[in-house]
Amino acid sequence: MAFFLIACVMGDFDAQEANGQTQPRKERRHRRSLQVANEWMERVDDPITPLPAHVQRPPRPGPRPHRQGLKLYVVPVPRLILFLAASVAMAACGDNEAPVPTTPAPAPAPPPAEPAPPPEPAPIPRECSDEADLALGLARPTVSEWNGSPFRVDYVDNFPEFVPQEYLQGQLDLIERLADQIEAQLGYRVIEAGSFVPVPDGAPEGWDQNFDNYRRNDLLPREAGQFLAFYLNDDPGRLLGSFHAHVCCGTISYSRPYFEEPHWTQATPPNNPHGEAIVHEIFHLLGFIHEREDFEFGVPMSRGALHVPWESGSEVYYAAWEDVDALRCIFPESGR
Ligand SMILES: [Zn+2]
Repeated sequence: MAFFLIACVMGDFDAQEANGQTQPRKERRHRRSLQVANEWMERVDDPITPLPAHVQRPPRPGPRPHRQGLKLYVVPVPRLILFLAASVAMAACGDNEAPVPTTPAPAPAPPPAEPAPPPEPAPIPRECSDEADLALGLARPTVSEWNGSPFRVDYVDNFPEFVPQEYLQGQLDLIERLADQIEAQLGYRVIEAGSFVPVPDGAPEGWDQNFDNYRRNDLLPREAGQFLAFYLNDDPGRLLGSFHAHVCCGTISYSRPYFEEPHWTQATPPNNPHGEAIVHEIFHLLGFIHEREDFEFGVPMSRGALHVPWESGSEVYYAAWEDVDALRCIFPESGR
């Protein structure tokens, strides 16, 4: 501040010299410095009573005696020191008022989590006994063909036009999902989804028009290791139903009433065309029989899953762990 005021004074002094004043330079500088310093001190001594804007500043006093010069260099210095000290103190106070960055308090630790329940113990695989014989006794044409390669399920291209291709593809998708499930549990595949194939050579005329004639005479040739699904243009009657696995012949037939809604829902509500009943029929060809059925052959299906799933609350047929486990005894990985 002091240097700033002195610089301003120097500028004013030069103007006086330019106006032709003739005092010696040193004396004029000294007198002018005294004048300015006194004016500055007057303002500092009474800083709270500034002149009103409409009041004219009184004329400047004339040059003061030389002795006043000491006041310029002696008196202002302590005031300057006080001023600077006050400034520093104010700055320090300002610093104290500034927000001080602080480390946020750590969030309270969450309560300890509940210990996870112990995992379900893995089911114990069964000791294989007579499963293969039971399956062979029920579905020998197919079960006997096992050589370690998965059975392939193909769809014969004889379905009527009104059956959407998307629906049939959906059936193949279900079969593939079952194939994946079996592989995930056993480590190898027992079945696989095939494709749409033409009517095999050697099928006689009208082979797909009569339920009893087809079943008695095994009219649809197939390859070893192949399951065939096809459309049967007949109504076997309500007692027999409309969806059949023919264990005699390695085939599965969708009879005409199958696609005549709502026949499924009238019979067994969960057993509708979208109920994945194809999974149930596939297992018949693999040698399985309905649970609790008084039958000499066949491996019993799991009740509530592969057989009558609605008893367990399921709306679809599905293979339970024990169903797939039984496959291991019927179809060993290396074949038979
Ligand atoms: Zn059945």
